[in-house]
Amino acid sequence: MDLTGLNKDQLSAVTRVEGPLLILAGAGSGKTRVITYRIAHMIEDLKISPYSLLAITFTNKAAKEMRERVNSLIGDRAKDMWISTFHSLCVRILRRDIERIGYNRSFVIYDTQDQLSLIKECIKECGLREDSFKPSSVLSAISGAKDKLLNPKAFEARYFNDFRLSKISKVYDLYQRKLKSNNALDFDDLIFKTVELLKTDEFVRDFYQRKFQYVMVDEYQDTNHAQYVLINLLSEMHKNLCVVGDDDQSIYGWRGADIANILDFEKDYKDAFVVKLEQNYRSTEVILDGANSVIKRNLGRKNKKLWTQLKEGEKIKLHKAYDEKDEANFIAREIKKRQEEEDRNLRDFALLYRTNAQSRALEEALIKHSISYKIFGSLKFYDRKEIKDIMAYLRLVQNPLDDLALKRIVNVPKRGIGAKTLEKLEERALVTGESLFGLLHDLSGFDLSTKVKTTLNKFVMMINSFMDMKEILPLTEFVQKVIDNTRYVDELKAEDTDEARGRIENIEEFKSVVMEFMQNSEEKTLEEFLSSVSLVSDLDSIDEEDDFVTLMTLHSAKGLEFPVVFLAGVEEGIFPISRAMLDENQLEEERRLCYVGMTRAKQILYITYANERTLYGRRNHAIASRFISEIDESLFEENAKIEKTKPQSLYDRYKDKYKIGQDDKPKFDGQDDITVGSKIKHPKFGIGMVVAKTGTVYTIAFEGQGIKQIDTTFISLSKL
Ligand code: ATP
Ligand code: MG
Repeated sequence: MDLTGLNKDQLSAVTRVEGPLLILAGAGSGKTRVITYRIAHMIEDLKISPYSLLAITFTNKAAKEMRERVNSLIGDRAKDMWISTFHSLCVRILRRDIERIGYNRSFVIYDTQDQLSLIKECIKECGLREDSFKPSSVLSAISGAKDKLLNPKAFEARYFNDFRLSKISKVYDLYQRKLKSNNALDFDDLIFKTVELLKTDEFVRDFYQRKFQYVMVDEYQDTNHAQYVLINLLSEMHKNLCVVGDDDQSIYGWRGADIANILDFEKDYKDAFVVKLEQNYRSTEVILDGANSVIKRNLGRKNKKLWTQLKEGEKIKLHKAYDEKDEANFIAREIKKRQEEEDRNLRDFALLYRTNAQSRALEEALIKHSISYKIFGSLKFYDRKEIKDIMAYLRLVQNPLDDLALKRIVNVPKRGIGAKTLEKLEERALVTGESLFGLLHDLSGFDLSTKVKTTLNKFVMMINSFMDMKEILPLTEFVQKVIDNTRYVDELKAEDTDEARGRIENIEEFKSVVMEFMQNSEEKTLEEFLSSVSLVSDLDSIDEEDDFVTLMTLHSAKGLEFPVVFLAGVEEGIFPISRAMLDENQLEEERRLCYVGMTRAKQILYITYANERTLYGRRNHAIASRFISEIDESLFEENAKIEKTKPQSLYDRYKDKYKIGQDDKPKFDGQDDITVGSKIKHPKFGIGMVVAKTGTVYTIAFEGQGIKQIDTTFISLSKL
């Protein structure tokens, strides 16, 4: 096979197939390319069976791209090879052998919504209250436990003297038992149970260890403890493990990823061969310098040099918009312009943002300018729960025999109809062959409480009334009635979370789908509408080859590259996200995310922000992100106005809340006499040296205490 498309260091990594190998290198230096060439080289030149290779990627999109890159090198000869994400790898292993640890092979996988309903039941049954044990925070504690491979027993043992966590361990225990009785696994279980299976079952372990003679893991910096153990279990026999990663791109700390995994690799595998790659082949020098000027602000990173031969290149474009609509329109216009003037395809462009909610305004502008786009990483519109629920109501009205639709919504919104009630109905339906909805019309023979019977009667009356309305109302009004009378949106409003608000927005969007249908279709019936929707969602999945602009969050963009990248909404409070602004570790993770975002660009990088923004239904004044002022000014296009953003100090944040008066205001701009290099004394941490200063915030290296951020708004330092 032709290996000339590799530089010397890459070649050494590709050809060293035996033994542990660590490739630690910056963005765009060819890490993923090394993995793909390695696979091709092993199959084509070394005649290693594809069956004995395993490659693990972080997202499905990355897995798909890796397979395509391998295919373009050696055709479909790698088709028997497993290239998969951690989750799909585990599903495959579990579908085959999970019976050996007491589950049924046909297990279902619970999504977040399913998890939430189940955890709510558990919290209640444990006698706890949702206001002090918030379902989402209990779930994240459980997820954290699973990442660390702690089962309920181990979790309880570890935290028995922590009041809150010991209560959560009870919920965790019940949650696991319920999952099991539903024959269900959640996402974290996929990995947890695979590790359990491999650890406890020698036969299965032996099978996979023999099978996978060569294991490769991309984006290794983002593995958590459970994934780390899994990888080690799989490659224990042959120890032909190749991991690649970049500590500057570790962006999943919040989900339990542990940079230590990458830094410890050399300790765990004493004879590991380490390769460093220093040439970046992706981006122009301007873009690379910009990304480097941001990431170098992080303390305690391994200093890496990256260089590129791509000297030419446009400077970074900075655009300040009036608001999010204006920002989105600017982006759409720039895409149109470049598409026409530079003869580019839409697939050359990517729009990256910090949070999913930001996509809405961008989508609207793209639609307005007739630019096709595709959102990755979040569910397609018609796959979303709230849309499926409303559709289920419409389907049931159209077709009362649709048992699946009935089961989906009979207790949505919650009416107090439990699984037991449904079971009784289903048992009878099995005998008589009637539909569930048909059975509901005569409940006299059922052993159900009067309360449940009344509720079911009301439900039947409601659906029957919808059937009548359908005949007389225009479709748009009819759909509105369904939404109102079921109280679906009311329940979401009461939930009052960001997620619920997102769902309400989607339902609003659904109404515009109906409106559009009314305008464009000849037959304006419900039946016609339902089939048009099934066709749309069907088509959605086959337009893969089309030319479209990519929209995704920064997190999902990892590992990908695009000629033109827009980073949108680069504002304080969004990026860095507000919850990270007071914690130095989280702030560094946001900065790594910024580095990831900027290094996705090959030729042109835009950074945009707005003066005002409506997000989550609130309109706020916005200011440019501190990350913008961290980029060297000379890298921006000349007309760019760079607004220096001082990180907001604790004083600014709390002056209203705690009514701090002017007199209490300590030295607001920091202490003049203390600058970088000063030796100081802190009342608690003792003696240290100032290594950086932004406004009132000092970064200080303390003797024996490590590096800390001190805000002199509240604490005075004495200069030594
Ligand atoms: P990231 O850290 O973002 O995941 P990476 O290190 O995995 O980046 P790749 O995606 O493998 O980098 O490579 C970046 C780009 O550089 C790709 O387009 C790749 O094809 C190209 N490239 C890498 N090495 C070479 C080379 N030796 N010759 C030509 N092009 C190369
Ligand atoms: Mg990569």
